[in-house]
Amino acid sequence: MKVLVAVKRVIDFNVKPRVKMDGSGVDLANVKMSMNPFDEIAVEEAIRLKEKGVATEIVAVSIGPAKAQETLRTALAMGADRAILVQTDEEVEPLAVAKILAKIAEEEQPQMVILGKQAIDDDNNATGQMLAALLGWPQGTFASKIEIADVATVTREVDGGLETVKLNLPAVVTTDLRLNEPRYASLPNIMKAKSKPLVAKSPGDYGVEVARRLETLKVVEPVKRQAGITVGSVDDLVGKLKGLGIAK
Ligand code: AMP
Repeated sequence: MKVLVAVKRVIDFNVKPRVKMDGSGVDLANVKMSMNPFDEIAVEEAIRLKEKGVATEIVAVSIGPAKAQETLRTALAMGADRAILVQTDEEVEPLAVAKILAKIAEEEQPQMVILGKQAIDDDNNATGQMLAALLGWPQGTFASKIEIADVATVTREVDGGLETVKLNLPAVVTTDLRLNEPRYASLPNIMKAKSKPLVAKSPGDYGVEVARRLETLKVVEPVKRQAGITVGSVDDLVGKLKGLGIAK
């Protein structure tokens, strides 16, 4: 079966984001960018399905600037077979991403689309759900385990514990942190990835309008956390809480 994996280029998770002076967004100039961590997990899961003989082909898709090619090359170096870059310099919102992915899914006819549960830059946690709705396919979100036979059995991380759902294929799955630990690409695989097929498309090729529908009013840094204090005893703690009006 063919698996489609969506990978987004985002600010590296180790980088402390800086807000632009004019409050219009996060400053990305000279900032290290990487594959969204949940998408690394998605690529890893697709590769494991291929290693088990369940998946036969893995197609990685990214929607973003020309530099998103680097993200796709990383996916290819990890083990994806080919890649599609839908190139745009717009900041594409989840609905437009989902519409483009839906068109690609109609063209490619995968049995499964794996996405991250959320992109760590905008934290929307929406694209997978929107994609499933657009395609009319079942969805297994926040997956911590995927097993595939005639149907996909997906274990989901929910508030109260774990929920297991059975999905008819084709289906949309989004990854949670504990699904797997993504591999590092080896040097030979990084070299090999350079010659794997990567096609460049535009949102217009899929008839999707990517202009933003949301207006960002202001972006501010989170309030700095105040330093904590160490108390000497439980009585001391209770006294402090009483002083703050938290305990009686
Ligand atoms: P979000 O709904 O924005 O939090 O993103 C959820 C998931 O959708 C991500 O982890 C990616 O797998 C996928 N995704 C979102 N935006 C893009 C994009 N521009 N290109 C490729 N995949 C994306």
